[in-house]
Amino acid sequence: MKINLSQPDITDLERNAVLEVLNTSRLSLGPKQDEFEQRVAQYAGVQYAVAVNSGTSGLHLIIRALGIKEGDEVITTPFSFIASANCILYERAKPVFVDIDPKSFNIDVNKIEEKINEKTKAILAVDVFGHSANWDRLKEIADKHELFLIEDSAEALGSEYNGRKCGSFGLASIFSFYPNKQITTGEGGVILTNDKKIADLCRSMANQGREKKDGFWLDHKRLGYNYRMSDINCALGIAQLSRIEEIMTKRKRVAKLYNERLNFPGVEVSDYLLDENTHPFVYVIKVEEKERVIKEMAEKGIQCGEYFKPIHLQSFYGEGSFPICENIAKRTVALPFYNNLQENEISSIVEALKEIV
Ligand SMILES: *Cc1c(COP(=O)(O)O)cnc(C)c1O
Repeated sequence: MKINLSQPDITDLERNAVLEVLNTSRLSLGPKQDEFEQRVAQYAGVQYAVAVNSGTSGLHLIIRALGIKEGDEVITTPFSFIASANCILYERAKPVFVDIDPKSFNIDVNKIEEKINEKTKAILAVDVFGHSANWDRLKEIADKHELFLIEDSAEALGSEYNGRKCGSFGLASIFSFYPNKQITTGEGGVILTNDKKIADLCRSMANQGREKKDGFWLDHKRLGYNYRMSDINCALGIAQLSRIEEIMTKRKRVAKLYNERLNFPGVEVSDYLLDENTHPFVYVIKVEEKERVIKEMAEKGIQCGEYFKPIHLQSFYGEGSFPICENIAKRTVALPFYNNLQENEISSIVEALKEIV
């Protein structure tokens, strides 16, 4: 038996969409990019979407577009994928970590204000594992202290908070379309915003500082990057997005089967997995002896994930102490979780886990 942690869900629809682009002469900066951006913006309920080649690139461009620079501080969570803090370092600003809430795994909104000072420019909150952060409270704090609010919604496509889609709460937000995310473009990401200036600036910076998509190719108005997403990737994204309801139904089914069957001592189903408004990115349980569980599951051919190793404990960060985050991270294990995980496979995973814990 071999069960992967994650697996993309690619059908003939996606294969044909990619082939169709390959048969044209427009492989990048073409019509598929416009269409993908419009569809993602509409799905998230925001005005503008800018396709980029990764979620990480999207975060970097947001930090630059907001003018965050050396000497500035950005408040963020240590319990996340490392890119949500690295993007702050890219511009030589300082990530200031705030410990997390042990139930939601998201940044603890009650501990943010004590970290705000005159250098603080923004709060970058993450919808961890697809579970929405507390955006009402985050917005209140950001407004009160005149801070930018950035949403890393890389893991939360489809999730909702107060009837609104995640990805719509930041002054600027991102999704990622890496193959383990809810939908994939191979590699890719998107910046979401209702602010036209931010959208235009990000679009220009993603395309070598060009002002217009169809403008003079060698005219560069500002320092830019090649963070473009090709039309091949965008076509893949359009096809995936057209199947979003089916994809979300499949994922909910897998989560529900796990929720029902993981009802024995030694395994704790995380709270976010029981929230109807959350579309999990990964299925993370809590166990004692995390490392042993991951190792012994691997010996049975079941790949589990280490979500997360706290960012402040990564070697090149290496400072600070966030006891709740560290305690949670000691116990969290991601089980295999993807659209087409079969019921008999879920049974095998649950049985293996029961034996091991
Ligand atoms: C996946 C992820 C990213 C980065 O997205 P990429 O497309 O892989 O660059 C950023 N933040 C979080 C929370 C993520 O899970």
